[in-house]
Amino acid sequence: MTHMSVSGDSTIGDALLAGIDGSEIYALASQIFPICRSITGEGVRKTLANLGRILTLRLTEIPSGTPVFDWTIPREWTIRQAYIEDDAGRRVVDFRNNPLHVLNYSLPIRARLPLAELKKHIHTIAAQPTLIPYRTSYYAEQWGFCMAHALFEALHETHYNVVIDAALADGHLTYGEFFHRGASDNEVLLSAHICHPGQANDNCSGLALLSHLGARLSRQRTRYSYRIVFAPGTIGALAWLASNETGAARRIKHGLVLSCVGDSGGPTYKKTRRGNCFIDRVMVHVLMHASKTTTVLDFSPFGYDERQYCSPGFDLAVGLFQRSRFGSFPEYHTSADNLDLIGPEHLATSYRILCTAIDIIENDGRFLNLMPKGEPQLGRRGLYASLGGDPKAADTNLAMLWVLNMSDAKHSLLDIAERAGTPFSTIAEAARLLERHGLLQALPEAEPAN
Ligand code: ZN
Repeated sequence: MTHMSVSGDSTIGDALLAGIDGSEIYALASQIFPICRSITGEGVRKTLANLGRILTLRLTEIPSGTPVFDWTIPREWTIRQAYIEDDAGRRVVDFRNNPLHVLNYSLPIRARLPLAELKKHIHTIAAQPTLIPYRTSYYAEQWGFCMAHALFEALHETHYNVVIDAALADGHLTYGEFFHRGASDNEVLLSAHICHPGQANDNCSGLALLSHLGARLSRQRTRYSYRIVFAPGTIGALAWLASNETGAARRIKHGLVLSCVGDSGGPTYKKTRRGNCFIDRVMVHVLMHASKTTTVLDFSPFGYDERQYCSPGFDLAVGLFQRSRFGSFPEYHTSADNLDLIGPEHLATSYRILCTAIDIIENDGRFLNLMPKGEPQLGRRGLYASLGGDPKAADTNLAMLWVLNMSDAKHSLLDIAERAGTPFSTIAEAARLLERHGLLQALPEAEPAN
């Protein structure tokens, strides 16, 4: 394939960023926040329908009972209502007020129970007595409620009417995909889970951010093809891998799972299983220049769907990008992970980080210095900006010297940016300038190895 890219003044990252301030990402996250999601069922489809207004999605439905590797597609869960009512008819817990109140994927129940019996089915967090926990029971059949510990403690000795009007029946698991065709068949995978109810950061943020990114990508010409996958956690990613094992999964060269990208913490990057993939270098470079509070973690087989993408049978080059690391913030998996925890400005920062990473993926390449004997005389060509105390001019001058020195056909722009300790965009801009003045020649090559 040909090397398109470094000529032209605007970059993919700039084009993706233009006009995005985070408010539209936040608005979409707010829109899908109230939908009660689970790993199957109407909530996933409703969420995908909302995202589908922003970008074009192809839906795949896999019937219950279908084996996927060591797993089986579960039944569809439908929840209509759920509440606990005391003998006086007062509702102490009502699903209508918060989808977290019902144990996600709970079996149905309709019973009158004494307090001692009811308590066995109630989940709380004693250390966070005002918050409702988010709990699931996908693979163990049980019924249950979640509530604030303070309220739980205040329950009096009486009988309670317990209703979970839910159904578990054969149906489908649904996932959605966006695809943008680039010059190459090789793909960049971006993936977010779509199964958490009532979790703004740990779900809605990633879905909303990737939807807007996909919509922008669809209007650009890119070197890579881009695939965005919205699938229920674990079982959805497994279903996608099983359906694409001999197809798209083989074309993925670089990838990221996104979750918790709307809070003010981090940023955090967890490396791929291989730990030295191109995407690892890209994300470390971008985050180190983006923030002094960056955390880079080595791979561990715990977290989000990178666990499946990085399982040894696939071993894809997929890392995890987050702001606060999952499990590390007190709001995680509670009712406090709500729309107050995420903000447009944080979503915009995360979006910008992603665009910068895509810019590197799209524009990295190697060049040849056409005047490698000694330094070419930049001043004579009007390239050596007078220093005059302008730090930007000094940066550009230094970046040009780095690019000329390292462009021996062996080093890529990212190699140079890393060695110079300079943001990729500054190095790439210097390369464009030198190329325009005939001092540098882009080498035709495929995109960087993963
Ligand atoms: Zn979660």
